[in-house]
Amino acid sequence: MTVQPNSIEARDKAYHLHSYTNARALERDGALVIDRGEGVYVYDVNGKKYIEAMAGLWSVGVGFGEQRLVEAAATQMAKLPYYHTFTARAHSPSVDLAEKLIAMAPVPMSKAYFTNSGSEANDTAVKMVWYRSNALGKPEKKKIISRIKGYHGVTVASASLTGLPNNHRSFDLPLPGILHTSCPHYRVFKTDGETEAAFVERCAKELEDLILKEGPETVAAFIGEPVMGAGGVIVPPAGYWEAIQKVLKKYDVLLIADEVICGFGRTGEMFGTTTYGLQPDIMTLSKQISSSYQPISALLINDNVYAPLADESNKIGTFGHGVTAAGHPVAAAVALENIAIIEERDLVGNVRALAPKFQSRLKALEGHPLAIEARGVGLIGALELKPRDGFAAGQLGPKLFAIMTEKGLISRAIGDSLALCPPMIITEQQVDDIFDLFEASLDEFQ
Ligand code: PLP
Repeated sequence: MTVQPNSIEARDKAYHLHSYTNARALERDGALVIDRGEGVYVYDVNGKKYIEAMAGLWSVGVGFGEQRLVEAAATQMAKLPYYHTFTARAHSPSVDLAEKLIAMAPVPMSKAYFTNSGSEANDTAVKMVWYRSNALGKPEKKKIISRIKGYHGVTVASASLTGLPNNHRSFDLPLPGILHTSCPHYRVFKTDGETEAAFVERCAKELEDLILKEGPETVAAFIGEPVMGAGGVIVPPAGYWEAIQKVLKKYDVLLIADEVICGFGRTGEMFGTTTYGLQPDIMTLSKQISSSYQPISALLINDNVYAPLADESNKIGTFGHGVTAAGHPVAAAVALENIAIIEERDLVGNVRALAPKFQSRLKALEGHPLAIEARGVGLIGALELKPRDGFAAGQLGPKLFAIMTEKGLISRAIGDSLALCPPMIITEQQVDDIFDLFEASLDEFQ
């Protein structure tokens, strides 16, 4: 990219440290600066159009430029731009959204609790689990198990839950007491000749072995994404969640379903919990809750978590946790309108209707000489590239990503996998456009 002096790209290089970026490479290469969005498209500051096949960061479910969300924000901003939900205070959007989420919950839930990001929601889940164990007089029951390649965020506790080396390396993480068990990626982690069913059994056995090694009386909770997203779109093999939940039940270990990507339709059901038959005690929600038009996240907790928490707060005098913008009225109003759009337009139905086309075109790419595996469910998927001479692991993905971007297709490189997670308003023609561009990019990369 040629960067003109004093252009927005030059000022970005001069002043702005980006997340998840090699800062030295950014100083050299600069960033793509996006200016506006409409439907499934975004446009950069030079007017170039891109099909946003990642919905931003797995999040803009209703697409860009949705005026109903703009109006919901403006109306609430004019009426009450801010109020908090600490102590005995509330406001209508927070109450309405809490009621709505409890009504939508795929398993019985007692309360909704608000935070601002997926990371904060998962961090809060950790604290609630610890608080609960103390409330129950089991102060030793504090360890939390997540999975290798799971992604749960970047705060100190949620980055510890995340099972990706770059979230730990040089940060001195994970925290003690946060443990990682096997990743359910069959192709990568199966042993020679192991069937999928045997692999699932082994994943469950490895979880059980870890619980037994640590002592079941010390293990409080297990967290997992129904489908792993940022770890490379890893769809669990058949029977995986059933086998895992059997182990959790046996040792009285809570289940936290991280629905930050799967929630609000992505897998073809409103929640990944339904798609995979989960029975979580806590669900964490963000991203498509507001299509990321406003930062907001929520935890739904069942009575198994709420009742001891309420008792403990009564004993201490307060549940000493909360952030200033929790349940922010503008964010909550936008989330409510966003959920109304998802329901009225039956966007979950659209995901179901287009999933066969999306998944079959993705699967077809597996036959490409550069590819090794296609994975996906609903309107989320990834294609992994075959290792190739002259490229270290993790170098192929960014190269293909650059070719795609040049062609006007935004995906996401996760190592050597290219992920897709388009807005749920996408049409069949636009699904074809994504895969035509994907295929053309692969051909050019040959
Ligand atoms: N959990 C999952 C499953 C995610 O995919 C993400 C973000 O991608 C997070 C948690 C963290 O969310 P945030 O980036 O809003 O902190």
